[in-house]
Amino acid sequence: MRTTREWQALDAAHYLHPFTDTSALAARGTRVITRAEGIYLYDSEGNRILDGMSGLWCVALGYGRRELAEVAYRQMQELPYYNSFFQCANPPAIELAARLAELSPPHFKHVFFTGSGSESNDTFVRLARRYWALRGESERTVIISRWNGYHGSTMAGASLGGMKAMHAQGGLPIPDIVHIGQPYWFECGGDLDPSEFGLRVARELEAKILEIGPQRVAAFIGEPVQGAGGVIIPPKTYWPEVQRIVDKYGILFASDEVICGFGRTGRWFGCEHFGTRPDFMTLAKAITSGYQPLGALMVSDRVAEVFIETGGEFAHGYTYSGHPVAAAVALANLDILHRERVIERVREDLAPYWAARWRELAAHPLVGEARALGLFGALELVPAKPSRQFFKERGTVGSRGRDLAIRNGLVMRAVWDTLIVAPPLVITRTEIEELISKAALTLDQLYAGLAQDGWLPR
Ligand SMILES: *Cc1c(COP(=O)(O)O)cnc(C)c1O
Repeated sequence: MRTTREWQALDAAHYLHPFTDTSALAARGTRVITRAEGIYLYDSEGNRILDGMSGLWCVALGYGRRELAEVAYRQMQELPYYNSFFQCANPPAIELAARLAELSPPHFKHVFFTGSGSESNDTFVRLARRYWALRGESERTVIISRWNGYHGSTMAGASLGGMKAMHAQGGLPIPDIVHIGQPYWFECGGDLDPSEFGLRVARELEAKILEIGPQRVAAFIGEPVQGAGGVIIPPKTYWPEVQRIVDKYGILFASDEVICGFGRTGRWFGCEHFGTRPDFMTLAKAITSGYQPLGALMVSDRVAEVFIETGGEFAHGYTYSGHPVAAAVALANLDILHRERVIERVREDLAPYWAARWRELAAHPLVGEARALGLFGALELVPAKPSRQFFKERGTVGSRGRDLAIRNGLVMRAVWDTLIVAPPLVITRTEIEELISKAALTLDQLYAGLAQDGWLPR
């Protein structure tokens, strides 16, 4: 086996990482993760790290599930691959389509398979526009999305997303994708209370529809809880008002469930937690607990009927749409979620416990707000409470906190100066205590360091 140094040298010489400053990483050296078990990662130096981010929001069942490995092994021997293009399908993909229809809210009976969340969102863009074209309203092409939403990294995914740094690279967004404000009270709420703010920001959707002309708007897309944007949990008033508006204008509504789907909020899907009725759900990540790459687009009856009856050929698809191994692993993952009552346990037991413990971190002098929902957590780091003013040079303090956390054996992610976590759904109460105490230790160390370096007001 190579040493860490050797791996880092090869990595620096050849490996272009996603969302990474290559030369900065080369100077610092990559962390090489060599194995994992339960909710713990092990790196090439032998450090044991609690994975507070479930990989990248996906490893719902934790690591080391033999059953998933065995299902993949058997499927690879039986049928490792065949496409779904030429009037063909395979048993795991068919079974998974039926299972997803059964799990989803009742108005979803059809699914289009993809290889990732980004591809699911690309498929949504094409399908939504095609739906309106088939209905004779081909001028309905505009899709409304939100600033600081995240919908993936392909050209359409990054366009739907509201990350300005992504738009700045590669000439995005693509035409007819526009953005409105996000329900991020801590940053954008000003003097409004959260519920007034939730209504006000939801009504930006209506204002945008009227500005563009309702006859030109195809769809709206949003994440129930914005994940990559900083675990932004909208005020209670937000989603009901959005639903009222999409209903009023009859536009299609996509719930990007790539993170919220499969139990993160304590329900199977985030839209069920918030009580919305989307026309599409985009899925990926925890659909296989990350053991195989797989995405899917759930298509509601309203859309599927037009599509199927008047459609003709939909000129879209991926080599790995309906991949038998990924589908077999997804089915086994869903079986385990059911058998072990993972999602019920999150909803009834872990989520209330988690929320109570996590919110106690708000007492720390650095924490302006501690948000929790399901098994999501976020901490807003600020120089002086109770003001909701961020640090100057936004992002520095967050990265410093994240680095300390990893040194303390906990993966947290920094989104500017918001520290976020989304641990595996199989975490135990004892492991939650370990996560919380590592987070608290990190806050204390960060506070001491910032005080020493003159970052805090006296
Ligand atoms: C991760 C993510 C995506 C993109 O999924 P990929 O599998 O990385 O393409 C899309 N939407 C949301 C909400 C995500 O968190």
